[in-house]
Amino acid sequence: MERVYNFSPGPSQLALPVLEKAQKDLVCYGDTGMSVMEMSHRSKMYTDIYDKTVADLRDLMNIPEDYDVVFLQGGATQQFSAVPLNLMVNKKADYIDSGNFAHLAAEEGKRYGEVNVVASSREDVYTYIPDLDAIKFNDDADYVHITQNNTIYGTRFVELPKCKAPIVCDASSMILSEEMDVTKYGAIYAGAQKNIGPSGLCVLIVKHDLIGHAMDICPKLLNWQVQVEKGSMYNTPNTWGIYLAGLTFEWLKSIGGVKAVEKVNIEKAAMMYDFLDNSKLFKATAQPKYRSRMNVTFVTGDADKDAAFVKAAAAEGLVNLKGHRSVGGMRASIYNAMPIEGVQKLVAFMKKFEAENA
Ligand SMILES: *Cc1c(COP(=O)(O)O)cnc(C)c1O
Repeated sequence: MERVYNFSPGPSQLALPVLEKAQKDLVCYGDTGMSVMEMSHRSKMYTDIYDKTVADLRDLMNIPEDYDVVFLQGGATQQFSAVPLNLMVNKKADYIDSGNFAHLAAEEGKRYGEVNVVASSREDVYTYIPDLDAIKFNDDADYVHITQNNTIYGTRFVELPKCKAPIVCDASSMILSEEMDVTKYGAIYAGAQKNIGPSGLCVLIVKHDLIGHAMDICPKLLNWQVQVEKGSMYNTPNTWGIYLAGLTFEWLKSIGGVKAVEKVNIEKAAMMYDFLDNSKLFKATAQPKYRSRMNVTFVTGDADKDAAFVKAAAAEGLVNLKGHRSVGGMRASIYNAMPIEGVQKLVAFMKKFEAENA
């Protein structure tokens, strides 16, 4: 069977060269005589892979020396707990509630200290990012938590909050899709399954002077200082996942890095929204100013038509376009690995469906 265009929000499509390289090396990696999955994480053959993966990410994101990079387990969700456990020195943090994952992060934070939800768009089904200029941040907060791209609702922060406390960012669905000035953040974490690699893995980039203050109750495995000191290897890391992340980073570098892919991402998103704004059948759901470039959410306004569209698209090899179960409608997730041809084919199909169903 031929590969489809997979618009899944996550786990999502990986770049084909990444899969092909992994397949080629699956049984025997280089001259090691074994699969990456069979290597000791402490062996030179594996630590070479690990070191290159970290170095390539540092290079791609221009991560300064005073920031640590580690690969953790438990996806982004595990960090909803790790963030407060590591950073709540004064037991107080501000959270911006801009979507379902942001909400879950705040709820988890409440288990460990005082969480102030300083702004929320929950009442309006998260169709926008709250007005950052109207927020009163708490100057004594240990950090301000944001979810920079809201995967389910298809919104993104167009600027960062101006606050005294360090910004902690869940970048799961936007990391490496656009240039980020790492120095503006205290910590960035991202589940790998959208723009990096397989699920279960999480990348953490954290300013070095923020670590070392974890709560006594913080499980050792979640302690960022321990993980930094052990080079992500306090226990056996997800060796295979890190290897695939490394292949994705190599691929990204080969196509020109983040700056180049950002340009393509802007183009892909513009194709979708231009069509939606002129459509007689489909309508984009996120407020224009805050539209995500990674997750494009839209509806016809008729649940039966939505379902018919998702089904007909799948028959054309355009799969996983159904919106999140909490909002319905459609969502096209167009991460880095979605080629522009996939978006062109989707827009062409939407035009055809519109002509037949408007
Ligand atoms: C997907 C996603 C998560 C959850 O990631 P897991 O790997 O399932 O833990 C958290 N935050 C955002 C913004 C996401 O898109």
